[in-house]
Amino acid sequence: MTSPVWHPFTQHGLGEPIPTVIRTEGVALHTADGARIVDAISSWWVTTHGHRQPAIMAAIAEATQSLDQIIFAGWTHEPAETVAAALVDMMPAPLAHVFYSDSGSTSVEVAIKMALGFWLNTNRPRSRIAVLEGSYHGDTVGGMSLGERGVFNRAYAPLLFEVETLPFPEAGAEQATLDALESLARAADPLAALIVEPLLLGAGGMRIYTPEVLAEMRAICTRHDVLLIADEVMTGWGRTGSLLACDQAGVVPDILCLSKGLTGGAVPLAVTMATPAIFEAHLSDDRARMFFHSSSYTANPIACAAARANLAIWRDEPVLDGIADLSRRQRARHAPLADQPMFRNVRQLGTVTALELADPHSDYLSALGPALMRFFIDRGVLLRPLGNTIYVMPPYCIDDADLDLVYGLIAEAGARFGH
Ligand SMILES: *Cc1c(COP(=O)(O)O)cnc(C)c1O
Repeated sequence: MTSPVWHPFTQHGLGEPIPTVIRTEGVALHTADGARIVDAISSWWVTTHGHRQPAIMAAIAEATQSLDQIIFAGWTHEPAETVAAALVDMMPAPLAHVFYSDSGSTSVEVAIKMALGFWLNTNRPRSRIAVLEGSYHGDTVGGMSLGERGVFNRAYAPLLFEVETLPFPEAGAEQATLDALESLARAADPLAALIVEPLLLGAGGMRIYTPEVLAEMRAICTRHDVLLIADEVMTGWGRTGSLLACDQAGVVPDILCLSKGLTGGAVPLAVTMATPAIFEAHLSDDRARMFFHSSSYTANPIACAAARANLAIWRDEPVLDGIADLSRRQRARHAPLADQPMFRNVRQLGTVTALELADPHSDYLSALGPALMRFFIDRGVLLRPLGNTIYVMPPYCIDDADLDLVYGLIAEAGARFGH
């Protein structure tokens, strides 16, 4: 019997097998037919410490003893209050206000609505938004509008709003990006905001740019009164080696989007954090100026309890040491791949490593990506190449034997599929 389930980013017409996972633990997914699969992409970038981290699972179980969803417009609960206070402590000042939602995409929608609300409520309406070429900010209509246009969103293009696209700050050509931003910021119709994935473009192909460029973009935004939105949905929670990627540039955004690792990857939750200036622009005795956004499951108490446990782990345990250690152990296995002629652009930032398999004919839709994925899964590793870009982004609990398996298979794939 065929399943009624319609899977995301899946071409059901190809008849690829869809394994059933029956148990997760640490770095492993266990399937119904008995396979142990090393989750080398943290289940699409969400799992921070490892699957079913015991303290987070216990916090979820405990929360269900007293709370389920409650309305959050005008009501509150302890897990939401504790998480918000902990986030304000943990994230750089002056990010002092925390707005809850349920996914990375909605945290971005909230961010752009906050930015436009700020400008309207301070009587300087602005709506132009600048983005970096090749970015990804989610699959909702607003998120797609901000992201790279292509096969992913061609059908919906008529619905997408226009943005100003800055060239990607390629090594050696960073000035072009900064000049483009400067001229947009100075224009008669000035920018409302610049939104960036700090230091690392994820879905756009794991492209890396420097902290210096990020710091320069922040400086231009400050000089010209443009809001900087940092979409750290993927880069947050240690992925790039620091808690936030922005930390490496000494940059504090006006608006910060966090999701994926916010609950350690256990359950969905997102926040959009904002500075007092943005909050206060919505503060008034006029109801027309309140922030008009909500979703049914805003600040779900069980998800907040998971986030509370995750933040306690970040506070009490040497998480960044574990991440630094993983980063070193990956470098030892990844860097030598640069010597193989079938690999290009061998690069690493924190616990993310990436390289391109030399294949002049490949794009995201070429058969190479699925063929690679099948090659890895058949050998016990979950990797999901972006076209010919093979990247690794595991939870930091992965041990040396599993890392050897992952990077050994990448070397083997290079020999088998490279040209
Ligand atoms: C994953 C991602 C999103 C979207 O998050 P969802 O939870 O999938 O909606 C937005 N921005 C970036 C940078 C992401 O990596």
